Amino acid sequence: MFIGHYSVSYVIKKKELGLPLWHLFLATQLMDIIWCIFIFWGIEKADTNSGLPGSHIHLEYMPYTHSLIGSLILSALMVVFYRILPSNKYKANLNRKSLLMGIAVFSHWVLDLIVHYKDLPIIGNSFKVGFGLYSSAFWSFTLESILLGVGMLIYYYSTNLKKKYGTLTFYLFLLIINANTVWGPVAPNEKIAATFLFICYLLFALITLLMEKVGKNKVANNDISNF
Ligand SMILES: [Zn+2]
Repeated sequence: MFIGHYSVSYVIKKKELGLPLWHLFLATQLMDIIWCIFIFWGIEKADTNSGLPGSHIHLEYMPYTHSLIGSLILSALMVVFYRILPSNKYKANLNRKSLLMGIAVFSHWVLDLIVHYKDLPIIGNSFKVGFGLYSSAFWSFTLESILLGVGMLIYYYSTNLKKKYGTLTFYLFLLIINANTVWGPVAPNEKIAATFLFICYLLFALITLLMEKVGKNKVANNDISNF
């Protein structure tokens, strides 16, 4: 799964407004971000000939980032990291925030389970599982689009925060990027695919950071002009 993971970022953001959305964007994709680095270093292995219409990437050897045990360890590490975060800026409710960040990391494995076709290991490189929605490009793309849309709606329209600026544009942008990964050209090898995804993950988090900043400034300016 690609952009659908961000639905969890939005839902958790609604539950804990003190968590910056860009932190949650990085957390829900942490498994893939480390996967991109490991693919580049040759620690984990994948190929771009999955034969599945929904995703060209087949996970050959992913014991660290995409096994159930690996994802639980990464989630626990995130909880610890967030708990001892050096910055004082996010210290309020730190227990709750760090737990939610851990849940955000683990949600990646759960959502990947729906779409991947028997290439997600339980432990090490063994006992591979996956319900295989990637066997349909249309249904996997539709599921991701709906998940993301619902997540965005839950966050933006059930809070009275006025941070809706550019949301629809961002949603459509994410859909276009996702459509390109499904129906666009296949990356010639896994390192190029990993580089593209790595740039996407950082870029999406950066856009979210900027959107939150613009939203906050606009709310602040509106508040001042209402006085
Ligand atoms: Zn993944």
